[in-house]
Amino acid sequence: MADRIQKIGVMGAGQMGNGIAHVCSLAGFAVVMGDISQDKLNAGLATINGNMSRRVSSGKLTEAEKETALGKITLAKSNDDMSDVDLFIEAATENEDIKNKIFSAVCPVLKDAAIVATNTSSISITRLAAATNRPEQFIGIHFMNPVPVMKLVELVRGIATDDTTFEASRTFVEKLGKTTAVSEDFPAFMVNRILLPMINEAIYTLYEGVGSVESIDTAMRLGANHPMGPLQLADFIGLDTCLSIMQVLYEGLADTKYRPCPLLVKYVEAGWLGRKTRRGFYDYRGEHPVPTR
Ligand code: NAD
Repeated sequence: MADRIQKIGVMGAGQMGNGIAHVCSLAGFAVVMGDISQDKLNAGLATINGNMSRRVSSGKLTEAEKETALGKITLAKSNDDMSDVDLFIEAATENEDIKNKIFSAVCPVLKDAAIVATNTSSISITRLAAATNRPEQFIGIHFMNPVPVMKLVELVRGIATDDTTFEASRTFVEKLGKTTAVSEDFPAFMVNRILLPMINEAIYTLYEGVGSVESIDTAMRLGANHPMGPLQLADFIGLDTCLSIMQVLYEGLADTKYRPCPLLVKYVEAGWLGRKTRRGFYDYRGEHPVPTR
């Protein structure tokens, strides 16, 4: 059963999707990567190429390993290209409607035995699963950003997820060289349940004028020994993703302590989503990041 997963479909070629395709191809899996946008798909492949080249330069990978891995990745022209995957991983924008639309379009095309996974950071696995044609074969496989670097993957069972799906998913993640942490299906699971309220509090600290972007980040880097300041981390995650996760916590747990900071909402409304749009709590358009407040 462990070897039932040979070919992986990844839907969404953004920062997470291309990272997932990267690690799967290096671990020897065949990968088909799809996206609604051809530009994002091409950019995703270029990012994988660039990231692998950096690893070649730093001696972590040989040129031959890079070429072998890249040779395992194909780009999907349509959903039909997902018809022979053993595991389909959805890694599109953090929006329940978008995810449901992807599952309703792709699930009918998949093999009956295929496992369907979502990389959602916060949305209920049970609810997403219930809207598909295979809730027993549906699971949350939650990678961390950046995927090639981060060692943890949260595995999240929906209420209907069967043992075979869970064990095959765990074996798959271990083959990628990652460590699993098993989470129950509650809003934002474990890592983001703890991390995002901290980031949101940092944004409130900025909003209330307690400190500047730089002082808040310096305070947490040097005062709490965090490798990145919380605002720098928010930019890295993507401010739209941060807001979605806070909304899921706020609505899912019905507790005002999870209220998204209005300043976070304002940044998202401005389209300043962090690194991916080159502006967030920092402006990345110049040589060095410059705080925007
Ligand atoms: P992103 O914005 O970088 O990429 C999202 C991609 O989805 C884009 O390329 C977009 O074109 C594509 N897309 C949108 N609608 C689509 C559709 N209908 N069909 C196919 N593709 C579609 O976002 P991301 O940071 O890669 O996040 C993707 C998922 O991973 C989200 O569910 C997010 O919560 C989760 N996640 C994010 C992080 C993080 O730190 N950013 C960490 C773990 C999990």
